[in-house]
Amino acid sequence: MFTANSITSLRTQIRRIRSSGATIACVPTMGYLHEGHLSLVQRAQQHADQVIVSIFVNPTQFNNPKDLAVYPQDIKRDLDLLESVGTDGVFLPCKEEMYGPKYQSWITLDSITLPFEGTHRPGHFRGVTTVVGMLFNCVQPDYAVFGEKDFQQLRVIEQMVVDLKFPIQILRGPLMRDPDGLAMSSRNIRLGSDARRSALGISRGLFKALDLFRRGENSAEILRQAVLAELAQPGVEVEYIEVASEDTLNQLPVVIEPARILVAAVIGGVRLIDNIALAR
Ligand code: AMP
Repeated sequence: MFTANSITSLRTQIRRIRSSGATIACVPTMGYLHEGHLSLVQRAQQHADQVIVSIFVNPTQFNNPKDLAVYPQDIKRDLDLLESVGTDGVFLPCKEEMYGPKYQSWITLDSITLPFEGTHRPGHFRGVTTVVGMLFNCVQPDYAVFGEKDFQQLRVIEQMVVDLKFPIQILRGPLMRDPDGLAMSSRNIRLGSDARRSALGISRGLFKALDLFRRGENSAEILRQAVLAELAQPGVEVEYIEVASEDTLNQLPVVIEPARILVAAVIGGVRLIDNIALAR
């Protein structure tokens, strides 16, 4: 497994891979890896000959500087995990090379970035799309894998690739959960035991809403209330619980498939997001 700390050394590796005729998939991450990330690597391996994972805590997607300051990092552990699943290469750019002192180019998308995360984290998606665009230009992959955990982000990237004609096929990775239901996230390490217990209300609520939907309930408000009921606990601050079209991310008053329930809540000072597909 190679590690490249600069764009020049990455490009040398990419040329070597391309000259052998191999296809490439990339998996962009911010590190502090867990099984959710590793499942994306495995998904990438099913499609491409070589899998390159990037680890970069992208400062421009953090609207809250405190959130960036406490974002967990452990590169040594990440590299061991990636090696254990047969990753071919890791790109570890530094922020000085990604964002030079005179940096001034941004990718912005319209309506799909406005609701949910876009409303609660102003500027977040501009940071995401810009850094992903840069990573695509550095790695020049045939495939890129994004997790359904960040469902709006996944849709934003799919839209960007279509709009800007990136010659890259986006693959979706299913959302991975801990055995107790909590959506795996690098941020979970910051949850105290009380907060973690409260956080289980998110997935419990989503599964209850899915169950209601499967028994015929189509009203977004009733499904929302089912999730909310599990989150009515001290120390839980719900940012949004909404039913949205998977395609447009528009809010739906009545479920029209394909649709998802999307949730964001701050629990014990940690901001968590989760979602579930409403499929019968
Ligand atoms: P992050 O390191 O949090 O920026 O995430 C990097 C990639 O891993 C993104 O495509 C995420 O959607 C994906 N990811 C994060 N958590 C999970 C999870 N629990 N299941 C599946 N994919 C995930």
